[in-house]
Amino acid sequence: MSESTLFVVSTPIGNLDDMTPRAVQVLKQVSVIAAEDTRHSWKLLNHFGIETPMIPCHEHNERHQTEALVARLEQGESIALISDAGTPLISDPGFILVRTVREHGIKVVPVPGACALVAALSVSGLATDRFYFEGFLPAKSSGRKKKLETLSVMTNTWAVYESTHRILDSLADFREVLGEDRYIVLAREMTKTFETVLAGSVAEVETILKEDSNQCRGEFVVLVEGAKEQESDEVDPDTVKLLKRLLEELPAKKAAAVIADVSGYRKKQLYELSLSMK
Ligand code: SAM
Repeated sequence: MSESTLFVVSTPIGNLDDMTPRAVQVLKQVSVIAAEDTRHSWKLLNHFGIETPMIPCHEHNERHQTEALVARLEQGESIALISDAGTPLISDPGFILVRTVREHGIKVVPVPGACALVAALSVSGLATDRFYFEGFLPAKSSGRKKKLETLSVMTNTWAVYESTHRILDSLADFREVLGEDRYIVLAREMTKTFETVLAGSVAEVETILKEDSNQCRGEFVVLVEGAKEQESDEVDPDTVKLLKRLLEELPAKKAAAVIADVSGYRKKQLYELSLSMK
């Protein structure tokens, strides 16, 4: 390895066979591996005969470690970043490091591989031409419901990560905010022994989990079908009110685009309405 480089290396999300040969090669060649949890990653490195030293780089020390890692890169070393599973930075540490390394003009190279979001999306049967990823929802129900209100109007597919402890509480909030009929896909334990993909209305999926506690175990990606585009020609009064207010601040084209983004009405329809209101 000639030019000093930060490699962002994906590791398996369950099945070790998903480790790519290139990931193994890079992890063997770099001078140090920055790992989210060195004790956790030790098993992975051991399995693949990787003897490169590790240093911890997690959400509590990333800022501090970044300084040390940048100094090593500037001295000509190459470094790899890994997280506990999947792709670093995707609901995992690494943002500060990658941003800083790039700002120093040092090369950052991805070594792609597993990512729970993409794995789940690829088998969900939901539209993938456009999708939105929210990461983890707030832990408290009040915050979660507030966030779900915002997500509920999006017309594209959207996804969140969820843990075994919160999945049932979360689904109850999904039902309350999105309604029991919204179509969702629950991808559990992807690539692992108990991999399960459940699809159906929020109420159907919630019932399955309530009746079988095994279905609540493990790691989850919850994917949600986007809200139906508004079919009616009539824009509802609340949206008209919002558009009117926005027109006091923005040109018609911009206001229509903003409202179209969050409401599901067509931009053209809102633009025409804006012109008639001006
Ligand atoms: N960086 C990882 C990635 O690329 O997917 C995600 C890390 S995030 C801290 C961990 C969350 O990802 C879990 O709580 C779960 O929601 C999701 N996840 C990770 N592995 C999974 C799997 N095998 N099946 C389903 N979801 C998984």
